[in-house]
Amino acid sequence: MDDRLFEPEIETMPRDKIAERQQARVIEVVRLAYENSPMYRWWWARHNVRPDEIKSLADFTEKIPFISKDVIRKWRDEHGDPFGGLFTGARQRVSAVTSSSGTTGEPTFFAEYHEPFGNLAMGLARPLWGHGLRPGDYALDQPTTFRGLTHHTMRLIGVTTVEIDTFIGSWRSVLQAIERYDIRYMQLIGPLMAELERLSEHCDMRAALAPLKFAGFAGEPIGSRLRARVRDEWNVKLVMWTSVGDIGTAWQCTEGDGYHVGEDGAFVECCDPISGAAVPDGSIGELVVTAIDDELAPLIRFRSDDLVRLDRTVCDCSRTHLRMWPVGRKGDRIVVRGRTVVPHDVWEVIEQCDETRAALFQIIRPTEELDELRVRVGYDTSRTASLAELRQRLMSCIEESVGVRPVLEMVDEQAIIARASSAVKIPRVSKK
Ligand SMILES: [Zn+2]
Repeated sequence: MDDRLFEPEIETMPRDKIAERQQARVIEVVRLAYENSPMYRWWWARHNVRPDEIKSLADFTEKIPFISKDVIRKWRDEHGDPFGGLFTGARQRVSAVTSSSGTTGEPTFFAEYHEPFGNLAMGLARPLWGHGLRPGDYALDQPTTFRGLTHHTMRLIGVTTVEIDTFIGSWRSVLQAIERYDIRYMQLIGPLMAELERLSEHCDMRAALAPLKFAGFAGEPIGSRLRARVRDEWNVKLVMWTSVGDIGTAWQCTEGDGYHVGEDGAFVECCDPISGAAVPDGSIGELVVTAIDDELAPLIRFRSDDLVRLDRTVCDCSRTHLRMWPVGRKGDRIVVRGRTVVPHDVWEVIEQCDETRAALFQIIRPTEELDELRVRVGYDTSRTASLAELRQRLMSCIEESVGVRPVLEMVDEQAIIARASSAVKIPRVSKK
């Protein structure tokens, strides 16, 4: 038995069994939502759907309309309902109210229940176990507002949580606690990195972080330089995670490639962002999710605004649940002669070249649909011997990776920094 699997039977469940289970749960969640949630009753009546018409996954994807954050917020504001009309049960059953990060506006609030242990906890326990946490380990329980509070999950695995102030500005004492309590796991976030880099000038970060088995990292994309600093200089294994359209989290596979989604908790679709039609696995589309294990406040066919690729084939790690690759937000999407391109695709290529490794670039997009891919690329003048050669090399690499030959505007990277409104965040898509 592979001891990296926390729930081997579920994690390696054959695809037909996953689908069978999802179908039964989808039918049940639709019925529950229709009977108990006024928002879904209203929304589905507007689209002329009744739950007794939903007898299969095919019925579900054909007939149940999408919902979006806007629908939920509108209901919340018009009805004074803090749960946006999603709520299907008694207020006393809620064990926590959590919220989204609010990347695209105000945060959305969610009702959660954990007793004894909800699927949110199980979904998080699997990757934490998979990457090496074991009973008896100590871990930092950093404040997070996101779905699935970590304390429950840690206790489920048998891990002891250490509850200390981990806000930015307090990491000198956090580093001491890591050593003192032999802490095996913590979360890194982008904004924290500046403080850790500063602290590293005065302390041996490699020694300070030595007790860690790994660190989780989520949120914004991590560049190769930062990744190298954490991984190679500080010797910390980074495990990336991402959200699954606000219904849970997906963590990097133990083999490294892609993020596994627990399909016993989520029914996942990948749809054309404009038409809503299903796109084949391997193609980029919008992530649409249904929380099939959530009977209290389920999101049903929720459009996430996230662009992803999916793969439902069995993974090298033996897990059968699908893998997802987040590629960007819907607002950053560009269509060049019918082909979808997102900044992430270009990023991957640009940061591989030594002269442009800071990945300071912008895609020029006056309109969403374009005839040519125009990219402004910042390069390090001190590393560049021949600009013409660098341009040719980048054009070939981008064409090979993205499938479109780009038009490149090469500029001194300092000029891109000067143009940006913030020194740490460059808008990846620019109108001009
Ligand atoms: Zn895997």
